[in-house]
Amino acid sequence: MVQQILFLILAGGASAYAWTQFMAIRKTILLGQDEVITGDTSARWRNVLLIAFGQKKMFKRWIPAVFHLFIYVAFLFTQVELIEIFIDGVFGVHRFFASLLGGFYTLIINTIEILSVLAFVATFIFLARRNLLKVPRLVKSELNGWPKLDANLILIFEVILLVAIFSMNGADVVLQGRDPLHYHDTGFLAVSSWLGPALFGGLSDGALVLVERAGWWLHLGMVLLFLNYLPKSKHLHILLAFPNTFFARQRPRGEMENMPAIMNEVKSMMGLAEDTGAADEELPEFGANDITTLSWIDVLGAYTCTECGRCSSVCPANATGKQLSPRKIMMDIRDRADEVYTKIQSGKPEYAVDAEKPLDKTNFNDGKSLFDYITREELHACTTCNACVEACPVLINPLEPILKMRRYEILTESAGPGSWLPMFNSIENSGAAWSMTIDREEWTKA
Ligand code: SF4
Ligand code: SF4
Repeated sequence: MVQQILFLILAGGASAYAWTQFMAIRKTILLGQDEVITGDTSARWRNVLLIAFGQKKMFKRWIPAVFHLFIYVAFLFTQVELIEIFIDGVFGVHRFFASLLGGFYTLIINTIEILSVLAFVATFIFLARRNLLKVPRLVKSELNGWPKLDANLILIFEVILLVAIFSMNGADVVLQGRDPLHYHDTGFLAVSSWLGPALFGGLSDGALVLVERAGWWLHLGMVLLFLNYLPKSKHLHILLAFPNTFFARQRPRGEMENMPAIMNEVKSMMGLAEDTGAADEELPEFGANDITTLSWIDVLGAYTCTECGRCSSVCPANATGKQLSPRKIMMDIRDRADEVYTKIQSGKPEYAVDAEKPLDKTNFNDGKSLFDYITREELHACTTCNACVEACPVLINPLEPILKMRRYEILTESAGPGSWLPMFNSIENSGAAWSMTIDREEWTKA
């Protein structure tokens, strides 16, 4: 009974706290602007199934993909054991599914054990890749500090979780032989049936119960810790990869989002548009300079980013020593989104444009913007090649915010690199990026 009460307090409290954190993430993502979702819904579901669930794009680099798959599948299967832990915890029973499922239960636990061993190996390989082999894309400067600690912490959590699983199962196997009435027969377990007796066979009954309970509580504790850690971690992609792949834009690569205000302006200059009087209206801001002017899909992408660096490793600007790293762009957007949300939540009038009105995303100005995180030099270095978009395993589009920030700089601020001015002049005067002496109409016929 004491254990049940403790379980309910711990699991209930941790779940409630995690829920508030996930709701905060949702609100932060929705700080972005609305975007009309268009395109083929069945293609969206296909993306969810193949790319988020099936990890299809991971297999472009099959070695890390295989090890990642071990951890991912082990994670999925362990949820069965987790459901059982919750049922046992709430009702004060032991291995609820064992007697119910019989041989099928043995199959499930064996699958979990084999996958756990593979995940154990994969975890150490991932730790070695980051800390000993120092794979270039995993040791770039944007990963210094919290991102590096985050990546290592989660791998350490994984090891602790696996120790908990094998302690629990191993001690349980030995106890099944000593107290079969309470400890249901699980059948032969691929790892625990030999590891349990080898490690714990000499322990007294009391010590064995202690080890089994410690493994059980540690397993539960790690899951609840992970649940609350997730919103602060790059591992949020475990959940957000699904909505991100669903809502990923379906435009062909390279197709830029049209700006109707600019299109109408150009049309009226060319005498192609009817005069609607729009020219007299105040022009809107173009592009984006902050979280609230990006689309919510861009902000969702930032929270989905796994920080894997596949995008930066194929970026030609990054490869040629420029400051630009598409991974850093997404990490910066997430950091700025965290900052904007925290400041709005603080309710401090100093962040309001109009202190008389409630502080919200439409009435927010802290004197900062995304340009305080992302330098203009980074933005200017992008060749718009789309290699980063193609490389991303969870369909994030780092090019989109880069283009929006450039649009803001050039169209709203009328700023930008001086070296680009001749190109703009050429486009304006001859309709081409190059300085042509003949009219575009003539030029295209030549
Ligand atoms: S689109 Fe820009 S950021 Fe992406 S890979 Fe190409 S140059 Fe790099
Ligand atoms: S944007 Fe995509 S490819 Fe780049 S680091 Fe994030 S998850 Fe990896």
